[in-house]
Amino acid sequence: MSEHSAYVGIGTNAGDRADNLSCALRELRSVGRLVASSSTYRTAPWGRLDQAEFLNVVASLRTELSPHDLLDSLLAIERRLGRTAGERWGPRIIDLDLLLYDDLTIADERLRVPHEHLAERAFALVPLAELDHRFAAMRDALPASELAGVIRVEREGGTMMSSEIASAISERVRALANFLSSGDAVRVRILRGEDEIEVARRQQHADRPRRSSDRAVGDATPLRFDTIKADLVGVFHLSRPAPFEGETFDGDRELGYVEALGIRTPVHSMGAGRLVRIAATDEAPVEYGQPLFSIARG
Ligand code: ADP
Ligand code: MG
Repeated sequence: MSEHSAYVGIGTNAGDRADNLSCALRELRSVGRLVASSSTYRTAPWGRLDQAEFLNVVASLRTELSPHDLLDSLLAIERRLGRTAGERWGPRIIDLDLLLYDDLTIADERLRVPHEHLAERAFALVPLAELDHRFAAMRDALPASELAGVIRVEREGGTMMSSEIASAISERVRALANFLSSGDAVRVRILRGEDEIEVARRQQHADRPRRSSDRAVGDATPLRFDTIKADLVGVFHLSRPAPFEGETFDGDRELGYVEALGIRTPVHSMGAGRLVRIAATDEAPVEYGQPLFSIARG
């Protein structure tokens, strides 16, 4: 039997979406050879807008199944993963669409290949074009507003951060921010793997206001630079009003936030200082540990 090339679009917007994606990819291995899978994308809902955001991936398969047998297998996987017959384009645990099968065109009552809506759906074309450059032109023909709604949340070939890990990290960052804002912290050092963040705060004298001459005469705290790094994988945004290089702040300032799986995790200056460098691009994906801001203290 000969092998055929098939691209399968996977979408989910209910339950543990990251888990649904990995279950679907695992199940796809039973219907063929999983050659590649695209990055994961977060996408605005399509068709019916009153529902949760989707996660989408496209998988490239080599299979011996005929197109109709492959469709049956995809529908069987959907059922196994818990998809119930719901409203079309409504919330779903998993949606598996056969986007392409070799260069075949099929149009019968059960199956249309290429998928009927492929040319209109940024959430299918963006990951597909990542795997197969023949579709780059079709992707680029989509309106910019549609493409902007499809955001890559995972580095290529990487592992999707599960929502559990993301929220555990958000929790820790929030706790740290609260601890620092309580004013008692003098020096906090976070070591994790190869990453190290050190945050220091000059001890304040509550009983007398500081004057600029204080530093020159008695303050031995040297000028130091802190790098504030991304503590999770996601899309980085500058807060509004946007911080600028050279800006000084007397206390803690929210400089930006990292958005992942619908959760916004604020990035704080961790105290007073002067913003020396904005190291990340607004609205662009950031990796774990990527430097975001450089702040001079003292
Ligand atoms: P959509 O995926 O367009 O949002 P559904 O998943 O609810 O909608 O539609 C599923 C039905 O669409 C299946 O029962 C199947 O017979 C039909 N269909 C036609 N062509 C395809 C295709 N290329 N891939 C998957 N389903 C298809
Ligand atoms: Mg479908």
